[in-house]
Amino acid sequence: MLKLSEGETYAQERRKILNDEKSLFFGNKLTSSLTTKELMVNEVLMEKKIDELTSSYENSSNFLPSVHFFQAKERIDQSEIFAIIKRIPKGACLHTHLSAAVSVDFIIDNISYRDCLYGGYINDVFKLKFLSDSTQDNRCKWTEIKEMRRNQTAPVFDQWLRQQLTLNVDNPKEIYSNIETVWKKFRNMFSTTYDLFSYRPVFQDCIYQLLQELYDDNIMYAELKGTVLPLYELDGTVYSKKDFFEIFVQTVNKFRTDHPKFKGVRYIHSVPRGVDKETLQTELNVIIEMQKLFSNFIIGLDFVGFEEEGKFLTEFRSEISAAQKHLKFFFHAGETNWFGQTDCNIADAILFNSQRIGHGFAIIKHPILLRLAKERNIPLEICPISNQVLMLNDDPRNHPATYLMATDYPLVICNDDPSAWNASGLSYDWYITFMAMTTKMSGIEVLKQFALNSIFYSSMEEKEKEMMMKEWKEQWDEFLNEILKYY
Ligand SMILES: [Zn+2]
Repeated sequence: MLKLSEGETYAQERRKILNDEKSLFFGNKLTSSLTTKELMVNEVLMEKKIDELTSSYENSSNFLPSVHFFQAKERIDQSEIFAIIKRIPKGACLHTHLSAAVSVDFIIDNISYRDCLYGGYINDVFKLKFLSDSTQDNRCKWTEIKEMRRNQTAPVFDQWLRQQLTLNVDNPKEIYSNIETVWKKFRNMFSTTYDLFSYRPVFQDCIYQLLQELYDDNIMYAELKGTVLPLYELDGTVYSKKDFFEIFVQTVNKFRTDHPKFKGVRYIHSVPRGVDKETLQTELNVIIEMQKLFSNFIIGLDFVGFEEEGKFLTEFRSEISAAQKHLKFFFHAGETNWFGQTDCNIADAILFNSQRIGHGFAIIKHPILLRLAKERNIPLEICPISNQVLMLNDDPRNHPATYLMATDYPLVICNDDPSAWNASGLSYDWYITFMAMTTKMSGIEVLKQFALNSIFYSSMEEKEKEMMMKEWKEQWDEFLNEILKYY
């Protein structure tokens, strides 16, 4: 037998350990079946990834995922990896909040220039509302946006308006001194646009535009989290909850007719996590009733809001249990840096058979929950930009999902509230996850797995999934051809 020197044994052992780790990594199970074409595209991808990483190893400020997204976005737009990711057919987007989803550019350039839009302050929060005249709503003194814009120059006013609709600032670390401050502004933003989105024509146009933005980012299906808005017309008509869903579904159907490749939308009803039990029960009764009427559209329930300030899921145990035979759950849980506190919501999310867990940021602190969730194949919805902007995690290289990626935990990448940080689509979150949370040598197999997971872990019926997968494969093949043609 050939005797190995000490150095050779060491090198062998080292190689074996690193190879074993590689085989555990997210997406690795696809590696052996990659086609020649995929391997050729991977070469293009890896060359660019390693270029970007090498320049970052030399100067870490070149590493865009670790720069605050407000400062990094324009530079990410220039990245060649980002350009490739934008072209990828990304499958589905499974965690997006309806009221912070359509791009802020659309709201400012289109919606805010419409007639009859007014602004005013209620409890120190700026609100936007469509009114037939300023006396129609007496909650505050309303001024027409046209007039506000006339009183300044349009660019100055539009810039000010943008600040009301996004968290973006030049110096986020100074302005947002802690997580409570950033959440306060975040919460106010939803209040600013609540009545704006409730104006029926704007609601429809925003849904349509949102789907267009997802579609333009090569996303063919979405699961949107929202509340039932009290849709209204200028003449004072207010629509019922049933009308809200009818109008919503009609708008989605119109988009599907115009874009036959788009597979549709499902709705996850979101209840603020601070509600009292009575309010929750009323919400549940309504949504269960609506679910019977729109069974193919309304898929389930979630709780939303700042997890530290809400109730623990366990406090709603009896209400959730009773709703279980009607609704599926898609709980946000463990979107926290605390340990032994709100993070324990993950236990409830698992025990209530949540279909997926929103964020699950704290899960790696809980080995038994992590094991249980993996055994039950409950995917986590990872939203890296949201976690950075909402101050859970500064640097995505240290995001807990790096461990989950390294151990092939089922993950889907989501965008959460893209308009709140002046983003749209899903490519930014894919880019950040790919660049910061995978190893230097991770390539196309990871990106392919992101797309496959998004379809597999969606709430589509099995037949729909099969159909979507078939079409996705064709889109993927077109993408491969495009890359080989252009690079
Ligand atoms: Zn969310």
